[in-house]
Amino acid sequence: MPMEDCLFCKIIAGDIPSAKVFENDEVFAFRDINPQAPVHVLIVPKKHVANVIEGAACGLMNALCGAAAQIAAQEGIDKTGFRLITNCGHDGCQSVGHLHLHLLGGRQLSETMA
Ligand code: 5GP
Ligand code: ZN
Repeated sequence: MPMEDCLFCKIIAGDIPSAKVFENDEVFAFRDINPQAPVHVLIVPKKHVANVIEGAACGLMNALCGAAAQIAAQEGIDKTGFRLITNCGHDGCQSVGHLHLHLLGGRQLSETMA
């Protein structure tokens, strides 16, 4: 059920254009508009859930992580490595209220996490 006024629901619906890299029944993935690394893909459930807490509660994380593994191979970063991040809530600096994983790679990432 798309949420009105949710940016990522609009991207999934095709109402806002995106550079799609992957899609299956449960998951949609597209390039971040402001990439922080040579590969920066956002992996989202098609179902609107707010964050990882809700996503875990409805069993979506397996599908998202499975998609991340497939996309990493597709993008050629499965061997060199990558980082998979989800920001949650205020302190996590989540800016879009639709669960998303950031897949980052294609260069040596910094050791700093925070
Ligand atoms: P957050 O800060 O919520 O973890 O991540 C939101 C991400 O969405 C940011 O990295 C931001 O660059 C990306 N983003 C925001 N608006 C758009 C958009 O319209 N299209 C795409 N492809 N990415 C977006
Ligand atoms: Zn949404």
